[in-house]
Amino acid sequence: MNIPEQLKKIKNELPQHVKLIAVSKTHPVSVIMEAYNAGHKVFGENRVQELVSKYDEMPKDIEWHLIGHLQTNKVKYIAPFVSLIHSVDSLKLLSVIDKEAQKCNRVIDCLLQVYIASEETKFGLSADELHELLQSPELGLMKNIRICGLMGMATFTDNKEQVRMEFRFLKNLFHDVKLKYFKEQSSFKELSMGMSSDYRIAVEEGSTMVRIGSNIFGHRSYT
Ligand SMILES: *Cc1c(COP(=O)(O)O)cnc(C)c1O
Repeated sequence: MNIPEQLKKIKNELPQHVKLIAVSKTHPVSVIMEAYNAGHKVFGENRVQELVSKYDEMPKDIEWHLIGHLQTNKVKYIAPFVSLIHSVDSLKLLSVIDKEAQKCNRVIDCLLQVYIASEETKFGLSADELHELLQSPELGLMKNIRICGLMGMATFTDNKEQVRMEFRFLKNLFHDVKLKYFKEQSSFKELSMGMSSDYRIAVEEGSTMVRIGSNIFGHRSYT
């Protein structure tokens, strides 16, 4: 993969208001530095340990996003530096993030992950669970988190219409939630949807953040 070239190609394609999260999971620092040296400073990782070790080794002007499932006992490792957590899926997790953020004297931006796919393996809240969470009285007491929007992953399928409908569902849910709970909050504005295989559809359906790995760095080999 010619990483700078791929980055340029994708950025040229994305509308101005859509942020590119370069998903660098499984790739070594030396490879990620090729993207950094080409001017890209926003990276996404899905594992806490990998995120922390890359944060330690790499330049400090990078914006690190956690995009994978987060366990409550691991929040403390990323709380000092993480820019955005895309994968919040419970009130319990939010309250732990709030506590750890408070210890670091920070406000941590979070997205609530919604389950939109027809696969059983994907994490996230249902629409009902999302409303339930947003109606919890405890939420108002959490001063060190800021809910900035929603995240979702579509089904891994060649059926583009299905993928489009799943993204559309999330976009509609975003609007409902915005009107109902965040009308006065301009910070509730992000819709994180779209990966290498489906980001064009996601952008057409209103995505504001795409999480792209393989199209930038090439295929991942899992060990
Ligand atoms: C790995 C991953 C991506 C990127 O996947 P690609 O298909 O390589 O673009 C995006 N989002 C999440 C949550 C991921 O785990």
